[in-house]
Amino acid sequence: MLGERLGRMVSWNTVLTFVYVIGIVVVFFTLTEHPDHVWRLIYFSFVPVMLLARFNSSPVVKNISAFTAISILVIGGVLSPLHVEVIEESFIFVPLMVLILYPGKVWAMVAAVFLLFPYFFGFENVPVEDLIEDCIEILLITGFASVMTMFQQRSHKLMLGYREESRTDYLTNLENRLAYSNALKWLDSLSVGERKKYILLLIDLDDFKRVNDFLGHHYGDILLKQFAQRLESIDSGRTYRIGGDEFAILIDESESMVGSRRVAELIQVKSLNPYRLLNRTVNISASIGIASFNEGTESSEDLVRNADLALYQAKVMGKNNYIFFEQAMLDSRQLEDRIASDIGQGIADDQFFLVYQPKVDMRTGQMVGAEALLRWRHPELGLVTPDKFIPVAESTRQILPLGKWVLEHACMQISSWKDAGVYLPVSVNVSAVQLEHDDMLGNVRGILSDYEIEPELLGIEITETSIMDNVEIAVSVLEKIRDVGVAISVDDFGVAYSSLNQLVRLPLNILKIDKSFVDSCHSSQRDRKLVSAIIQLGRNLNMDIVAEGVELESQKEVLLEEGCFVAQGFYFHRPLDGDGIKKLAFKSASVQGKKN
Ligand code: C2E
Ligand code: CA
Ligand code: CA
Repeated sequence: MLGERLGRMVSWNTVLTFVYVIGIVVVFFTLTEHPDHVWRLIYFSFVPVMLLARFNSSPVVKNISAFTAISILVIGGVLSPLHVEVIEESFIFVPLMVLILYPGKVWAMVAAVFLLFPYFFGFENVPVEDLIEDCIEILLITGFASVMTMFQQRSHKLMLGYREESRTDYLTNLENRLAYSNALKWLDSLSVGERKKYILLLIDLDDFKRVNDFLGHHYGDILLKQFAQRLESIDSGRTYRIGGDEFAILIDESESMVGSRRVAELIQVKSLNPYRLLNRTVNISASIGIASFNEGTESSEDLVRNADLALYQAKVMGKNNYIFFEQAMLDSRQLEDRIASDIGQGIADDQFFLVYQPKVDMRTGQMVGAEALLRWRHPELGLVTPDKFIPVAESTRQILPLGKWVLEHACMQISSWKDAGVYLPVSVNVSAVQLEHDDMLGNVRGILSDYEIEPELLGIEITETSIMDNVEIAVSVLEKIRDVGVAISVDDFGVAYSSLNQLVRLPLNILKIDKSFVDSCHSSQRDRKLVSAIIQLGRNLNMDIVAEGVELESQKEVLLEEGCFVAQGFYFHRPLDGDGIKKLAFKSASVQGKKN
């Protein structure tokens, strides 16, 4: 776009220069046609002086030259006017040349009047009407041309103003998204070597939404304005506002006084300065992602993607942070994309399967239940663990068909064990997305009746975090499921620091102590006390307690001493397939016993 505009300007300029030079030539020949003139020699200087006025870049030289050139003609005319025909033939070029030098100004008109001035002294040999006619002609042409260029200049100025406005963010006066995308296009037009100098910082205010929610949009806007000013005061490169609370800085590292790391640090320091809003002090931090044209970064699109990934990483790592892009971020994003696009096919092709981890009564060592854990045997990626694909499935809502698949296959397994004489309660993990967007109650009821399973044989595990994300929905759905007779476990208990107030409202049967507490309950007094407190809490709320991730004898001992009797963990069993569980069950008298 810039090139196109430049091209248009160049060609228009060439035309003007051409007219200007023609003007000089015509006037010069007219002057040489008067060999007896007293100014004969001085007239020669008209050409270089006019050229100087046009081609010298200094405005002072231009003004002096133009004034000199016109004065030569006017004074020459006063001394002895040229033939009157020159007025209508060649002198018309003179004001036009002045107009080219000073477009949109009155100087062309002034020059025309002064040029005509000498002829009113020496018109004895000329018919007055002819002279007046020629004068009117030259004044009219000059006047018309002057007015035209005046309008042209004004509309050009207006256009520049509009263009400037359309590239400026209305709120912060920084350059806006349009300017940003133009800059990115411009980056793409550079050579590979040139591009390498540029570094992109993407900046996002942390929890800005809270400012809007608590203080209102008006104060949110004020904060954004102040933040924009702070960004600008760093003066590190071109600064853009590219979204609500998103900003970008494009740094030319070869020109910038400070490197991108220093800029990021400055942004952090400046953003952490408290803001005064509504007589209140507001603190807000910023997260920053930084990317450069390293190997593998071929276009501005790649650059933005990389900076975005780094920004995302900065957010994940707790905000108020700046992170440089690394290839591993791209790899894991690409893996996520791959997973997202392959889950559907995986369900269709039976690539998923369930394993079951026994829950053990630590007093007797007998298996009292099992947790169903999902696995994916991907044809190319191999065995994919749930911590890789469950979050993706949740964010794409593919957890809905997948979760239904799990529920159904767990029930098929329960039913098949039942046929073999093994009555083993199985719990399945359910994610918050399922509670919110699926008919969990309908699904559970339907599947229980399809496979003729007693509700006591099925349990649901849901993490404390996902319950707390939407307590209202969780309470209403879980209550109904529990009323069917299906036990509800709160998974990973203790990591979300939920308020007790909310916890007592929840329809929960089983509390699962998170592995992180179990890990160090044998080695740290503090953690042992925590585990003890969690157990007491669960008891007081009439819940059964299950400890997760027991790996050591000493952890088992502590748990037993503190009054937790059921646990799962590698110390007892790793997750097993259906047959493995069946074999284990036959060894377990208590499970066998329940059969009768
Ligand atoms: P979780 O529900 O907390 O499951 C326990 C995880 O800890 C399982 O990992 C299990 O294999 C592992 N584990 C058990 N005992 C030990 C131990 O002694 N040491 C160690 N280091 N690990 C132990 P897994 O199977 O990889 O599952 C990870 C998470 O994925 C689960 O955490 C659960 O939140 C989720 N998940 C698994 N299957 C499903 C499913 O069908 N649906 C949903 N929504 N989530 C699932
Ligand atoms: Ca679980
Ligand atoms: Ca867990």
